Formats: sequence, structure tokens, C-alpha cells
Amino acid sequence: MAYEVLLVPIAAGMVVATALLVKMSAQARTTARAAGTVFLLAMMEAMLLGGLVYLLAPSTAGLVDALWVTSAVMSLAVVPIFWQFLRDARRQIAEGGTGYASQPFRPNVRFSLLVLALVVSSEFLMGLVFELASGTPWASLTSGPSGAALALLSQVVLSPWFVFTMAAEMALTVALLRRELLAPFGVLLAGQVGIMVATPTALGGASWPLGAIVVGSVAMIALVVYAMEFVYRNPELSRAAGTYLVRLLAIYGAMMAGIFLWQASGDGLLLAVALLAEMALYFDLVVRSGRLATSETFAWLRDARWTFGLLAGVFVAEIFMGAVLDQAILPGWYTGLGMWALTGSGTDVATAAVHNGFLFLSAVTASVWFLAMMGAEMGTLVVYKLRETRSRETRVRLGVMLGSYAAFAVFFPSVYYTIVFPSAPDPSVVPLLGWSMGVGSAPLAPIVFGAVVGTYAITAALSMAFGRRWLCSVFCTAPLMFQGTTIDAMKTFNRSSSIGHRYLGSRFSSLYSATLAITMAALVAVSLLSYLDAIGTLHAQILGLDPSVFFFALSFGVLWYLMFVLIPFVGNYNCVTMGWCYTGIIAQAFQSLGAFKLKVRDREVCRACTTLDCAKGCPVGLVDMPGHFRTKGEFRSSKCCGVGDCVEACPYGNLYIHDIRHLIGRWLRAGAAPHRSPAALPMARSRPVPPEPAKAHPASLDSGGR
Ligand code: SF4
Ligand code: SF4
Repeated sequence: MAYEVLLVPIAAGMVVATALLVKMSAQARTTARAAGTVFLLAMMEAMLLGGLVYLLAPSTAGLVDALWVTSAVMSLAVVPIFWQFLRDARRQIAEGGTGYASQPFRPNVRFSLLVLALVVSSEFLMGLVFELASGTPWASLTSGPSGAALALLSQVVLSPWFVFTMAAEMALTVALLRRELLAPFGVLLAGQVGIMVATPTALGGASWPLGAIVVGSVAMIALVVYAMEFVYRNPELSRAAGTYLVRLLAIYGAMMAGIFLWQASGDGLLLAVALLAEMALYFDLVVRSGRLATSETFAWLRDARWTFGLLAGVFVAEIFMGAVLDQAILPGWYTGLGMWALTGSGTDVATAAVHNGFLFLSAVTASVWFLAMMGAEMGTLVVYKLRETRSRETRVRLGVMLGSYAAFAVFFPSVYYTIVFPSAPDPSVVPLLGWSMGVGSAPLAPIVFGAVVGTYAITAALSMAFGRRWLCSVFCTAPLMFQGTTIDAMKTFNRSSSIGHRYLGSRFSSLYSATLAITMAALVAVSLLSYLDAIGTLHAQILGLDPSVFFFALSFGVLWYLMFVLIPFVGNYNCVTMGWCYTGIIAQAFQSLGAFKLKVRDREVCRACTTLDCAKGCPVGLVDMPGHFRTKGEFRSSKCCGVGDCVEACPYGNLYIHDIRHLIGRWLRAGAAPHRSPAALPMARSRPVPPEPAKAHPASLDSGGR
């Protein structure tokens, strides 16, 4: 404790000094000032090096060595100052000037890297010196599974001296430079500070690691939501801002993976590297913040690779964050997964690796913490969308969708089910409760046969009455992920991506038909295998799992998320557009027998319409709808899942969703019905407004639809 009393004020002084030097670096506008800043940073480094030399051999001889080292580094640090002075003077003479005048300067990449290297190494040295000064033996700092040098790196970087002083430096720097930073980046940098503070390795004890993991996860969720909404509000981003965001999310993916590895094995190396990378990204942005406003801009919705980077970073961070929370809150979660040992022949190791990867991914994506986090992130984006939605029917649907997710993805399968049926099997393998439509968990199927048949009957009845929207736009977990502001905006990739483009329109292309046929054939095959396995006719397992359970986990625990990350290359809402979800296919088969369709109030309005906004707004890519509206006044497609974005997008309020409510309304009015304008239908947003006279015949997005 006596050491801490002495060391804390020293650390605080160094925090202030470093933050002021970083500020000077960011504001350096002359070569002399830039060189002076580098010199002062190097001086700090020299003092810390001297301290380290002394602490490694604390004696009179060690003190002399320390003074030599400090003096040598300080002498070397003077060289850039003189060099810069001579350059400036020579230029001044060449230009015929008299006296000395420093040259103009703007912080560039090389300067930023130099400042960064000095700040990071000073921070590392300070952590090391303070660890030694507070009594931690050198031997314990250098022992670890990855060797002495890497052990030293991770032990120092994960120590409180490094983590907290670094976080304080970052916070002070952003406070000092707040006027020069664009507001959104000030918020993002403040979020970085919060996440840095919540490093679970910084303090020991029982409560800090768990508390830090929970607080860090909440901070990261908030930061991801902020970043996603920021890009939604800025369709044109500066290249510097785009690069920063993608790198930040990639670092958080690595950081979460690092925390998971540290939890599982005690090795904190990956986490330490991720912390250093986070710090480097932070100071690079601070020192060269001017480029956020001056670098070239790009339309991110036309940049598939950048958008993929954004989604992949978010997904990897979420996966490991979910695993970290599962492991922290449910100790033994990871060991209970039943991973296979990576031993034996090459084939055995490869099979075990595939098995473990599959099991890990499907277990995390089915876990309550992952679903709760995804729900919090994507659900907040849906709330943003709700705020800008005018159609009352769509607002109601979005509200019910949020409630359904909270109830059926988070509350019932985990909280309620765990409390009420503590010894029952996992809900994802119970036919009635999961999305497996009764094909999962074959051994249970005979017992709950009636309930399974009931599930199909309810699916059929609801799909015929309301279309597949009850499932694909409300009750499934997918619509919540797809319909938040930023992800919904990615529907442009349905047209611009080469694969998504092939699935455009309501017709069943050969690719769609093939995908659908393979999906349904696989469903029948795994159900049959599962049944034969259950009655003992044959032993059929895939990666150690019941075939139907494997297929369910593959479809909704692995493939769905893979396709989500691949939206920039395959288009949005691809479970619907490509026909690879067997649950959706079953619902769409019944939809085509029912009353669900899109109708327009006045087809003349559509004939004169030049915007075709309904087609552009469709997240499923049903671009041929305007043609059907013009010729038939209505549009039916089994691919339509009733999101209602087309209704919202139509500038004339000419479009509505027709389902069983209209049939019932017509039956009730039959006989006595004085004619009522279609605008009075329950979902009418407003009376149709006559469009401006068309200047030319409206262009169609799909000529086949005319
Ligand atoms: S197609 Fe399947 S995964 Fe997609 S929304 Fe419908 S039920 Fe959900
Ligand atoms: S945007 Fe509206 S008016 Fe235009 S084609 Fe679509 S439904 Fe008709």
C-alpha cells in the first residue's frame, strides 16, 4: 500500500504530461513544434528506461547504469531537434531569407506513427516499472504459456498500472481536444475509454472480472448501436471515418476473443495485443483528426467490402461477447459443450476442429446472452426505424415484433423455461418450442406428436389468414435483425450484388427452385434419419448430433448468421429471397392458398407513377410489383413476407396489404353495403393524393411486369 501512495501521484503526473504532449502533437503546425513534441516524449521514455534499469539491479551500480542509460537516450533524442533545425535553416538560406523560421507542418502518417510508438512504449515502460516498484517479481512477470517475452507483454499490458493509466490518458486527451474533434467521434472515443476501463484482467477478486465483463459488454453494445446509426445517417462517409469504424469493430472482435481465451485458458496474450491495437487506433485518430473531414468520401452502400467488414466486425464481437457472458455467468458452460479433443491422426484433428467450431457457434447463437445482446443492438435500430415510420400498421407490426423477440427469443426459452422446468431439456431440441417445426429431437417426437401436428396446423391457419408475415415479419428472430435502420438500408445490395441480383423478383428462378428443392429434400432426409435412429433401425448421427438437431443448428445457428454477415454479397433478407429456410418455405406454401396480397386503391395512379418507390423499398427485392399493380391492381408473391416497406414507401398512399381482415369486413358488409372508398380500409395511411401529370410513361424496374 505504501508503494501505491507514492506511485499513484507519479502515474497521475505522467498521465497529464502524456495527454498534454499528445495534444501538442495533434496541434503541431510547425516543424519545430512537431520536433519539440517528439523530443519531450522521448525524454519521458528516457526517464522510464532509467527507472527500469535501476529496478532490475537496485544498487549503487544500478543507479549509475540508470543515469547512463537516461543520459544516452536524452542525447539521442536531441538529434531530431538539431536535424530539423538544420533543414529549416538550409531551406531558409536557399530561399534567400535571414534568421531562422520554422516551416509549416501538418501531422502525417509517419509523424502519427512516431508519436504512437513513443506513447505506447512509454505506457508499457511505465506499467513495467510500476509493477516492479510495487513488488511484483520479474520472474512472475515473465512466466507464462507463450514464453518470457510474450508473457511480459501480456502481464504488463493487462496490469492495472497500464490499463487505468492508459484509460485516464485517453480520457484526458479527448477532453483536451474536444473542440477539434467532430462530435460523433468524440462520443466514439469516449466509448473506447469506457471499454478500456472495463478490462476484466485489471483487478483480481471475485466481483471485478464479472462486473467489468458486464459493464464492458453494455458499453460495447451502446458503441455498436451508435456506430451503426451513425453510418445510417451518413450515406456518404469520409474514407478516414470508414476505415476507423471497421478497424475499431475488428479490434473489438479480437478483444472479445481475447477475453474468452483468457477465461478458458488463462492466456491473455490476444487480449493484450487487442488493447494495444485499440490504444493505437485511438491516438492515431486523435493526432490526425483533421482527415475525418478532409479525406475523400464514399457511399458505403455501394461498397460491399466495407459493409462486409462492418458486419463481420460486429458479428465476431457479438459471438465472443456472448460466449464470454455465458462463461462468466454460467461457470462450466464451455466445458459442458462437449468439445472433442484435438488429438489423433490429421483427419481426426480436422473432424474435431469442425465439430468444435460448429458446436461453439451454434451453442453461442442459441444462448440467451447472445440473443439478448443481438436483441438490444438490433432492437434499438428497429426503435429508430419505428420513429421514422408513418404507416400505423407497420408501426404496430414493428412493436409486436420487438415484443415477440423479447418474449420468445429471450424470456420464455431461458428465464421462464429455466424457472418452471429446471430439469427439462434445452428448448432448442424440443419440437414444439423451437423453430424446428417438429423435426428436432426425434426421441421426443412420438410423445408430443399431437403438439407437433398442432404446430403445423397453426402455421397453416395463420399463413392462410395473414400470409407468412406473422412468422417472417413478426415472430421469427430474423425480422428484428433485418429491419433496424442500418440493416434495412442494406436492401440496396439485393440489386447491386451479383448473387442477390439473381434472386430478384417474384418468379421462382432456377437458382431459387434449386435452393428450395435442396432445403426441403434435406429436411425430409434428416427427419427420416432421425426417426430411424430413434427406433433403433440405424445409428445415424452427424458430428455427434441427432440429424434433425444438426440440421436445425446448421440452419438457424450457423447458416443464418453466415448469410447475415454476407448481406453485401447475397442481399438482405436472404432466408426469404433465396428460399433456404424450410420454416419459411412451409409458411409460404400455405400463404399462397390464402387471402394475403398487396392491393392498390387506384391502378391509374400506379400507371402514372414515375417513382416506383414501392419496388425500391422492398427488402425482399420484389421489383416486379409495379407492373402487376398497373395491370391487375394487385400483387401476389409467395416470397412476399409482408414487411410493409412498400406501403410505407409509396408516395401516394396508394398501396395496402390485403388479408383475412378485409374478407371478413366484406362478408360483414355484404348485401347492404353502400360503396366505401378503399381509402377507408383499416390500414389506409391517407387518402390517395393525385400525382402530378406524368411527363413521360413511367419506366419499369422489370419490364416483364407491365
Ligand atoms: S424465412 Fe425463415 S429465418 Fe427468414 S424470417 Fe422467415 S422463418 Fe425466419
Ligand atoms: S410507388 Fe405507389 S403509386 Fe408508385 S407503383 Fe408503387 S404502389 Fe403504385
